[in-house]
Amino acid sequence: MKVETSLFTVHKRYALRISRGTRAQSENLWLRLSHDGVEGWGEASSFSTGGKRQEAAQLKRQIEAITPKLSHCSPWDHQQIEQLMRSEQLPSGARTAIDLALHDWMGKKLGVPLWKLWGLDCDRIPPVSVTIGISSPEAAQERLRAWQETVAVEVIKIKLGSPEGIVADQAMFSAVEDVAPPEARIYVDANGGWNLADAIAMIGWLRERGVEYVEQPLAEGEEELMGELKARGTLPIFADESCWSLTDIPKLADKVNGINIKLMKCGGLTEARRMVETAKACGLQVMFGCYSDSVLLNSAGAQLAPLADYLDLDSHLNLKDDPFAGAQLEDCRLVPRDLPGLGVVRRDSAVE
Ligand SMILES: [Mg+2]
Repeated sequence: MKVETSLFTVHKRYALRISRGTRAQSENLWLRLSHDGVEGWGEASSFSTGGKRQEAAQLKRQIEAITPKLSHCSPWDHQQIEQLMRSEQLPSGARTAIDLALHDWMGKKLGVPLWKLWGLDCDRIPPVSVTIGISSPEAAQERLRAWQETVAVEVIKIKLGSPEGIVADQAMFSAVEDVAPPEARIYVDANGGWNLADAIAMIGWLRERGVEYVEQPLAEGEEELMGELKARGTLPIFADESCWSLTDIPKLADKVNGINIKLMKCGGLTEARRMVETAKACGLQVMFGCYSDSVLLNSAGAQLAPLADYLDLDSHLNLKDDPFAGAQLEDCRLVPRDLPGLGVVRRDSAVE
C-alpha cells in the first residue's frame, strides 16, 4: 500500500484558552493511504497535554520513516501494522493517522460506513457539548451567544482552572450561567488547573449550581488525590489528561467515575474501541473528546458516538477553514454520514 502525508493549517474562529495556554490555529496532518484502487484518509492534529506535546510536522517525519515498511503491508493487515507501529515506537498521533486511514480504506473497500459495519445505533448518539474557554465574564457570555447563533446549544462545557484563581473561575461560570438557556446542561473541565483545596471548594460550589460532572480537576500524576475527590461523592469526576490508553483504565477505575477518550491520545479507532469496552467493564462512563481536530478526526470519533455517554467533539465547529466535510449536526447530535468508511470528503467537492 502507498502512504502519503501533507500538512495543512486550520484557524479557529475563536482562540481557545484553557488552564495551560491559548491556541488560535493548528497545523494538522492529512494522511492518504491507497491500495487496490481505494484511498483511505486519516488525520493527526498538533496537541499538547499533561506536559506532552505532539506536533504534526514531527509526526509527518516519523510516519515517512516507516513508510517503506508499510509499503509491504496490505490495509487488511491491521494486527501486523499495529505491531509495527508499536515496535517503531510511533507516538499516538502518528498511529492515529494511520489507523484512521486503515479503517476508512476498509469501509470504502466494503462500501459501508464504519458505524454500520459495527452495527451501531445512531439514535443513541448523545448531544455534543460546545466549549467555552477561559476568558473574562463578558467574553464568555459573548462566546456562548456566538455558539447559539450556529448551534442549538443543549450542553455547555466550561473551561475553568484559570491561572487567576477560583474567584475568576466563579465569576466566569456565573456570567455564562446568567445567559445560558435554562434547560442547558453544564459540565466543567479544569484541565488540571486546581490544587486539592481549590478542587474541593469548586466542586461543592459547582454542584450547588447543577453542574453534571467535573473533568480533570487535578493535574496528571495526582490520580490518588482524584480518588479522594471521587470518594467524597460531590460530583462525578472524569479523567482526561490522566487517561491516554487502555492500560491507564484499570488503574483509574476506583479513582474516577469516567474517562475522556481522544483518538489522538490513544492511537486511533482500534484502541478507542478497546477502551470503551474496558471502561464499561470497570464501571466507568465514557466521553469522547478532541483537540484542534478537523471534521475528519471528529467524523472518526462520531463513528463510535453511539457508545458514548457524553460527546465533546466540537473542535471543527470552531474552525474557519476546515478543508473537509463529514459528520453533521442534527438536533445537536454529531451524526456520521451514511457514506463508506469515515464518510469524509473534501469540502470543495462536498454536496451539502
Ligand atoms: Mg479535557
